[in-house]
Amino acid sequence: MEILVCIKRVPDTSENEIALNSAGNDIERDDLVYSVNEWDNYAVEEAIQIVDRVGGSVTVVTVGDDESEEVLRREMAMGANNGLLLSDDAFAETDGRGIATILKAAVEKGNYDLILTGALADDGAGQVGGMLAAMLDYPFASVVNKIETGDDKKLKIGREIEGGNQEISEIELPCVLSIQTGINEPRYVGIRGIRKVASVEIPTMGAGDLGVDAAALAPKVKRLDYFVPEMGEGAEMLEGSTEEIIAKLLEMLKAKGGLK
Ligand SMILES: Cc1cc2nc3c(=O)[nH]c(=O)nc-3n(C[C@H](O)[C@H](O)[C@H](O)COP(=O)(O)OP(=O)(O)OC[C@H]3O[C@@H](n4cnc5c(N)ncnc54)[C@H](O)[C@@H]3O)c2cc1C
Repeated sequence: MEILVCIKRVPDTSENEIALNSAGNDIERDDLVYSVNEWDNYAVEEAIQIVDRVGGSVTVVTVGDDESEEVLRREMAMGANNGLLLSDDAFAETDGRGIATILKAAVEKGNYDLILTGALADDGAGQVGGMLAAMLDYPFASVVNKIETGDDKKLKIGREIEGGNQEISEIELPCVLSIQTGINEPRYVGIRGIRKVASVEIPTMGAGDLGVDAAALAPKVKRLDYFVPEMGEGAEMLEGSTEEIIAKLLEMLKAKGGLK
């Protein structure tokens, strides 16, 4: 099975203090430590496991700048066979629809049976997978937490629904699935693996190569503001390390009779 996994390079929340920029319309992006979007890491692991079972290859693709190559290499060190960087000045400030437009063009340059995205990324929009499927006119399933192979024309997929219940569906290939965290346990990527792919050439495609009209990427959704909501009456922010916060929370819950 030929699988394309869409991955995004995002600020690593465990490594950064996130602050607003001076305009108040984005986070301050200078000096951030970046890594691969957590959901996408699960998607890549799932793709590798599918290929291990049924054969084929995994390609990881990202829309980003030169620095985004590092997340492609990380996922190749994990076991993805190929990387593809989609990069162009025209891609820089587009919205989710624009990202899906660029990815659609890349899908059409290949011959993929299955396209995986994360359920969501750092901007939390959860829109790229669904839009990509609609643009390709492929069937789509969101927040998938189980994939069963066996038939080369269909997959069985699971989704968690209301109340922790599980739903199983059949979906025809080619299709797009957005992957939920917890579907598997992504393997550890060691420094040896990173070194092995350090000099592998990663092809780059721009708007011209993909046949994407830059004018079609102008954002139609514009972020206007970013702010921390005001604390409601009686609300209290707990400060300190995670352990200190947990200890304070337990104390408060006990004091208010919520815990015995
Ligand atoms: C400088 C800058 C300017 C921006 N301007 C705007 C703007 O004007 N309007 C606006 O709406 N947004 C803007 N964005 C946000 C950006 O376009 C979002 O990444 C996009 O809207 C997708 O939303 P999301 O990241 O929440 O993705 P989701 O839809 O939550 O992501 C779901 C999945 O889609 C895939 N995916 C997402 N992004 C990529 C990617 N880059 N490459 C490969 N796969 C990907 C991944 O598999 C991911 O798990 C801007 C971002 C930057 C850095």
